[in-house]
Amino acid sequence: MSDQMFYSVVGNLFYGEVEQQNVFPFPSFTPEQKEIAKEFIQGFNKFAQEKLDSKKIDEEGEIPSEIYQGLAELGLYGMAVPEEFGGLNLDYSLYCRIFAQVCEYDGSLAVMLGAHQAIGYKALMLEGSPEQKKKWLPLLASGEKLASFCLTEPGSGSDAYSIKTKATKNADGTYTINGQKLWITNGGIAEFYTVFCKTDHEVDGKIVEKISAFIVEKGMEGVSFGKKEDKMGIRGSETRAVYFDKVKVPAENMLGEPGKGFKLAMNILNNGRLSLGAGCVGGMKTLLKLAAGHAKNRKQFDRPISEFAMVQEKLAKMASLIYSTECIVYMTTGNMGKGMEDFYLETAACKIYGSECLWSCVDMGLQIAAGNGYMKEYPYERIMRDSRINLIFEGTNEILRAFLALSGVKGPSEGLAELGKISNVSKALHDPIKSLGVLTNFAKNRFSKIIGSARLTEQHEAFGEYAKKLSANVSSFSLAVEDTLLKYGTKIIDNELPQKRIADMAIDLYVMIAVISRTSKVLNDKDVPKDKKDYCLRLAKMSLKDRNRRFKKSLRQMGNNQDLLTKQLSDDVVKFEGYGLDIIDF
Ligand SMILES: Cc1cc2nc3c(=O)[nH]c(=O)nc-3n(C[C@H](O)[C@H](O)[C@H](O)COP(=O)(O)OP(=O)(O)OC[C@H]3O[C@@H](n4cnc5c(N)ncnc54)[C@H](O)[C@@H]3O)c2cc1C
Repeated sequence: MSDQMFYSVVGNLFYGEVEQQNVFPFPSFTPEQKEIAKEFIQGFNKFAQEKLDSKKIDEEGEIPSEIYQGLAELGLYGMAVPEEFGGLNLDYSLYCRIFAQVCEYDGSLAVMLGAHQAIGYKALMLEGSPEQKKKWLPLLASGEKLASFCLTEPGSGSDAYSIKTKATKNADGTYTINGQKLWITNGGIAEFYTVFCKTDHEVDGKIVEKISAFIVEKGMEGVSFGKKEDKMGIRGSETRAVYFDKVKVPAENMLGEPGKGFKLAMNILNNGRLSLGAGCVGGMKTLLKLAAGHAKNRKQFDRPISEFAMVQEKLAKMASLIYSTECIVYMTTGNMGKGMEDFYLETAACKIYGSECLWSCVDMGLQIAAGNGYMKEYPYERIMRDSRINLIFEGTNEILRAFLALSGVKGPSEGLAELGKISNVSKALHDPIKSLGVLTNFAKNRFSKIIGSARLTEQHEAFGEYAKKLSANVSSFSLAVEDTLLKYGTKIIDNELPQKRIADMAIDLYVMIAVISRTSKVLNDKDVPKDKKDYCLRLAKMSLKDRNRRFKKSLRQMGNNQDLLTKQLSDDVVKFEGYGLDIIDF
């Protein structure tokens, strides 16, 4: 690995390495960034407290027009858009921090805003021509028009490559699109649709189908919408099917290169996942605020329930989950800002970890509120319904674990040009030769590495022992990966439970590294008050112990597990079409 290149921190773990300059010091907000963030947070808080009624939005299943307007006035439709197109030009860290503020208040707004800019017009940002950008970005950044990302279809969810919507090229260079998209956020209200379609390409004299992306406008003839979906949560956001019946689009509406749409879609989702992870921090903060208030004020047995250890455990865990998610999100944004280009493993880790921490916080917060938590009068149940989607969309957490593990073993030296295909597990299954190449390269690199190169030295002295353990864990991880590959060979693609454990170990290591780095910085900062230093150190210790425990469990299970039994039992369940037993029989 050359010193000039900035490799993925998570990717390096698969080689048993941690490059210290990429994890120390923990990235921080500059004084200018702090000022911008504070101004926005203050502005949004004022707007939300005066105008936003999330209970009403949930009950009525609609975001009022004055809220759409208010968000536009705050500039929230064009957070990452360059100023020349009317956007705020925020970097990753600011984008995530401000997005998280929206998520503290309302899941529907967050999903609408995320679908609009994190994925809806992201293809335009990444691959749009100067003409396309000039025409569309000012309208989208101002919120005058909303955007949608159209990939999912009735027969194609996780297996996104299998879409059927077809764009056929006409003699005059235009395309005609036929097909349908399912569960499209902002569908019906957006006017700009990034639509992924199959297109025909000549390769070695044969016609093969690839995927290309197109801008489709709402008003084009042949575009129609299904009825608004009646959803469990994020009920204010619009979700509809979008139908394309002989929709004619001009050639200049193609986004990016012909046939490169799948890679583009994967790149967009890889980006979008980061803000999803950041958004989860916002949701968790709200839950902890509610739960802490309730625990302090609710008395049982003549004492505030905050004095009972089983309530205290929940409050402490919730805070440590927020802290550790923040650590990986902002280590990732900071490194992206410093030029880390292959950040896809990190963003997947942030999405998986953030969404699962949020879901745990929902459970713990609601349990502290108990009966109140179950009542619609209080926000817990709405937050529970709103939060559940995060484990499902932008790549389910199962698919992302497979993606993280398979991409990780592919190794940082290979570059990430082919990541899109690897993320599509079912496609990789049909492509064993390609997978063999992946493993051969991995093994070659792996064997040439010296175990123990992960030694950490730049942490605060409070973390001496933790850092030693972490270095040993990183080495154990790379050996476990190697052993797994030697054991399964190309069949690693078919063995998802080892993949899951590999992904979990990589996530846990990344969390531990980020927590040590951030807390070291806090402890070394003379301007941080002592009580906050002590608090951060405790949060760090709780996070490190919990991650280390799960890491060790996953590591143990690499060799000693119930994978075969699990498969057999699942086969039974499928055969019996459910539980298949009744206690009255035997
Ligand atoms: C509210 C909402 C908004 C959405 N917004 C959009 C949008 O704006 N644009 C868009 O394009 N899509 C959108 N989607 C679609 C969303 O991205 C998909 O629901 C998601 O990708 C999963 O697809 P699926 O629901 O078809 O599940 P499936 O792919 O059918 O998966 C079902 C289950 O099987 C698991 N599974 C599938 N394959 C594997 C595998 N190989 N290994 C292990 N487990 C596997 C999954 O993890 C999941 O648990 C939205 C969905 C919802 C619910």
